[in-house]
Amino acid sequence: MNAIGKNRAWMEISLKNLEYNVKQLQKYLQGNCELMAVIKANAYGHEAVAFGKKLNEIGIFHFAVATLNEGIELRKNGVKGDILILGYTDFSCLQYVIDYDLIQTVVDYNYAKKIKTCSLNGKLKVHIKVNTGMNRIGEGYENIDFIKEIYHMPYLQVLGIFSHFCVADSVKKEDIAFSKQQINRFENVINELKKDNIAVGKVHIQNSYGLIHYNDLKYDYARVGIFLYGVFSEKQDRENFSLNLKPVLSIYARVVSVKWIDAHEFVSYGRTYETKEKRKIATVSIGYADGIPRNISGRGMNVSINNCHAPIIGRVCMDQMVVDVTDIENVMQGDIVTIIGKDITIEDLAEKSDSITNELLSRLGSRLEKIIQ
Ligand SMILES: *Cc1c(COP(=O)(O)O)cnc(C)c1O
Repeated sequence: MNAIGKNRAWMEISLKNLEYNVKQLQKYLQGNCELMAVIKANAYGHEAVAFGKKLNEIGIFHFAVATLNEGIELRKNGVKGDILILGYTDFSCLQYVIDYDLIQTVVDYNYAKKIKTCSLNGKLKVHIKVNTGMNRIGEGYENIDFIKEIYHMPYLQVLGIFSHFCVADSVKKEDIAFSKQQINRFENVINELKKDNIAVGKVHIQNSYGLIHYNDLKYDYARVGIFLYGVFSEKQDRENFSLNLKPVLSIYARVVSVKWIDAHEFVSYGRTYETKEKRKIATVSIGYADGIPRNISGRGMNVSINNCHAPIIGRVCMDQMVVDVTDIENVMQGDIVTIIGKDITIEDLAEKSDSITNELLSRLGSRLEKIIQ
């Protein structure tokens, strides 16, 4: 990264808050269960390598990523411990998984079988994914014989088996029943394997919400992503949960230009915003290419300048946006604008843009300078 500093638009990442969140989350782990830190998508837009190293420092040695490249990046930068690739790796690239000492997810029985034709140099370390109801990836929970067969494939070293919740965040009765059914299906697979004296390896199903809502499970890992970053997927969850987390990320930009405009002037593309009276406006140096969703335009989202809220007006542009600062005194060119931080949360932004924090974070632009503290 080019280290120019607090120039135009930047994020600040608090590794101290990451450590705090880890400590909070570890309180929910039962028995020997350990945290598997999910740092896919560049640690949800934060900085995967810095996260991996910091987590190593505080005793976390289990990681999950989504792709082979994400795993290689961590290894090349010296991150230690197990790194599980949660998603697909093509047969043509599986040798890299071995060469970089990564662990591949077996997406289904056919995938496992076809790996035989790859003539890999060395055994491929894998965890088997079991589909218990999400129907995205995983071998079907009902196909116990297929799953057993995977354990016996000589070119694989099966180190674990896992599944994934699809409504662990929900507290609706029927959703809780569904998650419990997923647990039962998974549990049944594990029991059937054990009956055959198969060494099942590491067992895991919980994600962030799963760890909190189904925290009696005594498996080997909880694969925690979003909560590590100190945020909830949706705003209402922060109020509904007793879990105390500190956001790791804040985002800042600069005041580019301040001016008064008359009544009946338009602001930004499309002339979607018209002043009713004379207003003082400020242009801010951040836009949708930096990860600010364009669809928050006109939805009353605020930024903070000199500790006062200023609403975003008109369309968010690629590199800039405009805010109303009529009620804020002494707004100067070059002032720091808090986009996310203090009392403005990424949960607010997610709510106003009809999304979840997971999406917004993972789509933060690579153009934001990163200041890691
Ligand atoms: C992304 C992901 C997680 C982490 O989910 P969070 O809700 O962010 O905790 C866990 N498991 C799998 C399979 C994932 O894809």
